[in-house]
Amino acid sequence: MAEGVSGSNRLSFAKPALQHFAKRSCRCGYVRSFSAHANPSHAVRRYAVLGAGFAGLSVAWHLLQHTNAKAPVCVDLFDEEGIGAGASGVSGGLLHPFSPKGRLLWKGAEGWSAAVQLFSVAERAIALDSSITDLTNTQLPIAEPLVWRRGIIRPAFTDNEIQEYKQNMMKHSGIPVELTTISGAQAKMLVPGLTVMANDVVFFMPQAVNINPRRYLQALWHACQTYARDASARGCAETKVVLIREHVQCLSGLPGDYDGVVVCLGAKVNLLPELAGKLPLSSCRGIVANLHLPLESGEELREDMPSILSNTWLAIQGTRRLVLGATRVRGSTELSSVISQNEASRALEELISKTAMIYPPILTWKVTSLSAGVRAIPPRTNVGALPLVGCIDEIVENYLRRNSCAEKNRPHFWLFGGLGSRGLIYHAWLGKKIAEAVVSKDEAILPQELKQWKYRTSVV
Ligand SMILES: Cc1cc2nc3c(=O)[nH]c(=O)nc-3n(C[C@H](O)[C@H](O)[C@H](O)COP(=O)(O)OP(=O)(O)OC[C@H]3O[C@@H](n4cnc5c(N)ncnc54)[C@H](O)[C@@H]3O)c2cc1C
Repeated sequence: MAEGVSGSNRLSFAKPALQHFAKRSCRCGYVRSFSAHANPSHAVRRYAVLGAGFAGLSVAWHLLQHTNAKAPVCVDLFDEEGIGAGASGVSGGLLHPFSPKGRLLWKGAEGWSAAVQLFSVAERAIALDSSITDLTNTQLPIAEPLVWRRGIIRPAFTDNEIQEYKQNMMKHSGIPVELTTISGAQAKMLVPGLTVMANDVVFFMPQAVNINPRRYLQALWHACQTYARDASARGCAETKVVLIREHVQCLSGLPGDYDGVVVCLGAKVNLLPELAGKLPLSSCRGIVANLHLPLESGEELREDMPSILSNTWLAIQGTRRLVLGATRVRGSTELSSVISQNEASRALEELISKTAMIYPPILTWKVTSLSAGVRAIPPRTNVGALPLVGCIDEIVENYLRRNSCAEKNRPHFWLFGGLGSRGLIYHAWLGKKIAEAVVSKDEAILPQELKQWKYRTSVV
């Protein structure tokens, strides 16, 4: 199924003049018909972005920003399940630029600013289009924000932790998000019912945000579509963005004459035959629970109640709804979003019992649903666990050579993966950099630190 807009006509993807069906096959047996955009001008630049999570949507948006009348950009966004169906849609949506020990993350300030800018793009897209009534089936009243700017608190557990945090905090001058301490009494004012653990100290990030991830991604997708349509009015008639709901079985069987293909498949990236066993990624499965506060309770959260980070996290959405997460099963090979009865009961028991230690009122909340997602965890480096990016032509070519696939002109292949637990802080900043690298075919644009994995991985 394909949903898309062109500059001149939302349905132009289906116009006979633009339909171009063909069949391709490759050694791994991937054969499908495809509808590629007709390519009336040699200057049109065509890109495939695989995966519609934080990574893929950010890359799609930033690729579109490179369109111009002389060289319009067309983006095909592939996802087997639609927008935000992977880890991104399940995530807690919490964003701040600090490590669990209170250190500023590598490029945390840059990541923060870029993410906040991209949130504004999504917010504007919703605000400008009054025709949007329900973006996500999340049953959120449309007037509710997709980004909540209410801060995050993190109660301290031990005196050592407090010392370590305080030392790290001294290095943070001049960054856009404050990390400060407040007293237990102040914290209890913000979060009535909170248990204060150690030494009456609570860490507070007043500018930190939490988002509704599915709704954010839907809004960003809407922004991409609107941008493509408006580009047409500005004279870039061939600018297009299309969502193709299909399973991508292998890179070499992708249809269409793309200039570049960006792989943003999250934890499922290792299932591509060309990349299987080539990327230093492990997986971590997590369950989150959506809860609401029943009207009968007569209670309501404060409008400005911050989210809470502790052994579990509570991402507060509105005055009667929160997301509680997350369990962590490292090395899990279960990639499906289906949750068994057993898994559900174990997860709920763990989440509620841990949360009740820090926030006892959770016991009066009702669970409405559970969701599962899998993070793609990158290896630790001396500056933390960093995403994996880079051009992967060599890896793909080596695979194809080994499997005696026919030589032919292929697009350049790029990877944007291994976002681990840091999807939000890195998606916008890196999505922009990757789009620049893809358009200019220049890998040097990408930070050296994030390409190190290529030199440690055997690509033979
Ligand atoms: C429980 C949980 C809570 C989290 N909480 C937070 C948080 O609060 N803050 C934060 O910053 N990060 C959080 N994270 C991490 C964050 O969700 C990830 O870093 C981020 O979602 C990764 O984005 P992605 O686009 O790389 O992958 P995904 O979001 O997984 O996107 C990959 C997409 O590719 C599609 N796909 C995969 N294979 C194929 C194929 N073969 N063909 C077609 N389509 C395919 C999938 O359907 C999916 O939509 C959390 C993660 C989990 C699991």
